[in-house]
Amino acid sequence: MCGIVAVSGIDHAAELTFLGLYALQHRGQEAVGICAVEDGTARVLKATGLAADAFDDEKLKRLPGRTSLGHTRYSTAGGPGLENAQPLVARYHQGDLALVHNGTITNGQVLREELVREGAIFQSTIDSEVIVHLIARSRRETPAEQIAEALSRVVGAFSVLITVGDVLYAARDPWGFRPLVLGRKAGGYVVASETCALDLVGATYVRDVEPGELLRIEGDRLESLPGLEPASRKAPCIFELVYFARPDSRIWGASVDRARRAFGRQLAKEQPADADCVFSVPDSSNSAALGFSEESGIPFELGLIRNHYVGRTFIHPTQEGRDFRVRIKYNAVREVLEGKRVVVVDDSLVRGTTSRGLVSLIREAGAKEVHFRIASPPVLSPCYYGIDMPTKEELIGSQLSVDEIRDRLGVDSLGYLSLEGMESAVAEFGPFCNACFSGRYPAPLIDLERGYAAASCG
Ligand code: SF4
Repeated sequence: MCGIVAVSGIDHAAELTFLGLYALQHRGQEAVGICAVEDGTARVLKATGLAADAFDDEKLKRLPGRTSLGHTRYSTAGGPGLENAQPLVARYHQGDLALVHNGTITNGQVLREELVREGAIFQSTIDSEVIVHLIARSRRETPAEQIAEALSRVVGAFSVLITVGDVLYAARDPWGFRPLVLGRKAGGYVVASETCALDLVGATYVRDVEPGELLRIEGDRLESLPGLEPASRKAPCIFELVYFARPDSRIWGASVDRARRAFGRQLAKEQPADADCVFSVPDSSNSAALGFSEESGIPFELGLIRNHYVGRTFIHPTQEGRDFRVRIKYNAVREVLEGKRVVVVDDSLVRGTTSRGLVSLIREAGAKEVHFRIASPPVLSPCYYGIDMPTKEELIGSQLSVDEIRDRLGVDSLGYLSLEGMESAVAEFGPFCNACFSGRYPAPLIDLERGYAAASCG
């Protein structure tokens, strides 16, 4: 789970990259980094924490140049330390190289072992570094050919931005798991995970970088190079539309808000409820709850309020425990809930622990009946393509039946959107990867099949 952004051919590129990362903060909050290139020299600054805390005017001034790239990271198995923060920067025979990666490589451990046997020395524990080594070892002539050869050896999910000297390259894996969009600004280009980053830097959306495509951007000159071998099918991540991407973004050609509303409308058709009001678990479920309300005619209310100032690590010394953590983040609006039969719409149900705490809150605020509706199917299997999810044993949908989950949550009724219903709601933008809901993985899980633990996502 990461956000990436790059700028080419625009003055003060690092400042724009910073703004882009600010817009992509929801994609990762543990580490952030920016690299800027001036006359072929790459300078990089990285820090743990949020973009706004890590960078200020003075630091950005230390990153001159018209080419820049940045990354915001949420760590998984690789650990949150600074050594795993990106951009990764290397000095190789073609010049300074910098790389940022969103996704997870499913043969990263196999490749790493092979490279280590050949003498490679790794600086980090993240899978992304494998790509740097493969580029540096390629015997092809040009950087573009070296990058293409390196990426052709990598399996799994990668949206990558790479600079070699002042030239920027952007690529997506042949399945197209993670989003990457291209924008135009002031004679230069901006490439980012989501269009919300283009909006904030004032760039105009041009198009998506296509699955398997490799772009070369030098200043204001853009070339689409011979790309990677096509996959048997495209498989953009449907979970980006369900939960991960920002609702004001467009990805895979779809408005995230409109997709979530369509999920909510379909949910209302499939899992109706007799109730006085409908509300969301804010914020990622707002659009789906609006869709449910539109379709069912049940009034939309604000029944839960989210505190936006809660840090990830907040633990009160005297008030630990599951429910307290939920109460720190959410509060119920008694005036909306008292004596009412309510529909609560959530985007997905992963572990179910937060939902249990929310249901207690809602009942304590006086709701008479609680009908829980999930705007996606049960999550049955982990993701190996770049979204951080718990193990199969921790996924409530893989361990319990719908009736058992209803009892565990303490709700009057529980209803999920069907897999067919979810896909049909956004059919014009698919086909999608739906492996966490179906167990059908489109790209081979090579490390896992060879007995390695799942890799850290970049
Ligand atoms: Fe997205 Fe789920 Fe596929 Fe992972 S497994 S890429 S979260 S749809």
